Amino acid sequence: MKFTNAGEIDQIILRIEQGLAEHAQWIKLWHSKAICHLPFPEDYLDDKGYLDCDFSEWFNSQQASEWLHQLDYDAISAAHKTMHKEAVILSSKLMSEEVADEQDYYRFMNAEWNFSHQLLTLKDKVSRLQISFDPLTGIFNRQAMMPILLQEHAYVTRDKKACCLAMADLDHFKKVNDTYGHPTGDVVLKSVADFFRNNLRPYDALFRYGGEEFLFCLPNTDVKSGSKLLNRLRVDLKKRPIKIKGDEVLSVSISMGICQMNSDDPVDETIDNADAALYVAKKAGRNRISEYQP
Ligand code: GH3
Ligand code: MG
Ligand code: MG
Repeated sequence: MKFTNAGEIDQIILRIEQGLAEHAQWIKLWHSKAICHLPFPEDYLDDKGYLDCDFSEWFNSQQASEWLHQLDYDAISAAHKTMHKEAVILSSKLMSEEVADEQDYYRFMNAEWNFSHQLLTLKDKVSRLQISFDPLTGIFNRQAMMPILLQEHAYVTRDKKACCLAMADLDHFKKVNDTYGHPTGDVVLKSVADFFRNNLRPYDALFRYGGEEFLFCLPNTDVKSGSKLLNRLRVDLKKRPIKIKGDEVLSVSISMGICQMNSDDPVDETIDNADAALYVAKKAGRNRISEYQP
């Protein structure tokens, strides 16, 4: 899964909407030139025009292709190219005062419809990915968690790779809500989630497991290195002031329990084990990480 937070999805939806608006302008301009018998701008006549338009520039950028390769990248690329090709055929005939065949116009319009339809479908598909993310923190929610963890479990089984799960729960979070109010509690939760997301490795996954509980999935990581990584985050989180109201800041601590996945144990069991280790960390005084002991 390439999308790791709701912000990325919002950004891509906005860019698709921009693409649709630019496309509508492009079609409008073509019709105005055709109807008024005016010369077409160069890109309607250029075989390679499809490579230079704003849409192409974005769509072929590294960021967009990373996001979209999991969706309909090839189909949209082909539809875009076909539409430009049909535009060139029709515009060139009109420019050279050949009478354009009605079929040329229909082919262009069908290609245009196909392209805009593909973009709308893409927007719809990307929008549906929003259900995988928690609206408050923007990280994966619990519904999105299982398929991702099952895939990691399959890698553990098939490739004999290590992978750790860690359960984390903010310490004395009720006190934050009681002292500063629930909305401030929300600000703190969002800030903690941002901190983790920005400081994990790109291939780690972070889920909002419950209210103020987070689940980490650390692929290619054994308990020793996973504990080290999370312990560093735990220490840094405690040191990091969280802005709440105006200049007022507070700091929070977190307790964690970590357990390595095992090909023989179902994922649910590893989650329960990480939770049991978290309970040990809480009992031992909080603001610490505990490794699961069978
Ligand atoms: P402990 O150290 O034992 O974890 O103490 P705690 O006070 O954090 O206790 P617990 O984990 O049981 O309490 C979680 C609190 O988190 C209770 C609930 O009001 C609060 N909470 C859960 N979800 C949200 C949320 O979305 N926003 C806010 N502001 N608070 C939440
Ligand atoms: Mg708590
Ligand atoms: Mg809790």
